[in-house]
Amino acid sequence: MRTIEKSDQLYRLPNPNGLYTAKSGYQWLMYNSNIILDSRAVKMWRSLWSLCIPTHWKLLMWMAFHDAFPTRINRRVTRIARSHTCPRCNKSKETIQHFFRDCWLSKLLWWISPLAISIDANPQVPRTQ
Ligand SMILES: [Zn+2]
Repeated sequence: MRTIEKSDQLYRLPNPNGLYTAKSGYQWLMYNSNIILDSRAVKMWRSLWSLCIPTHWKLLMWMAFHDAFPTRINRRVTRIARSHTCPRCNKSKETIQHFFRDCWLSKLLWWISPLAISIDANPQVPRTQ
């Protein structure tokens, strides 16, 4: 195995106080990359991050929009999962849509949650009182 003959160096991002934050890292990345962001997308994400809701909900929405969940489909692409089939129903590919919306267990969980969300117009799950 070949090693790189180069010593480590301390590198600080251009932050006025010298401290690294996720924000300073993001700003550095946006400034030093060729990523071109759609202004509508920037506005939408800023709106999302400014919502007065728990941070984990914001992260959940961000991950859903970016298809960043470790679904079987995504794990199959990286060869972590052997199958792309949903382990709960064994009927469909486990995509983000299937995981949150289409799987019968997801529908049931949404329905029995405190939010009582019905995915279907006529849910096939019993209503509890
Ligand atoms: Zn399923």
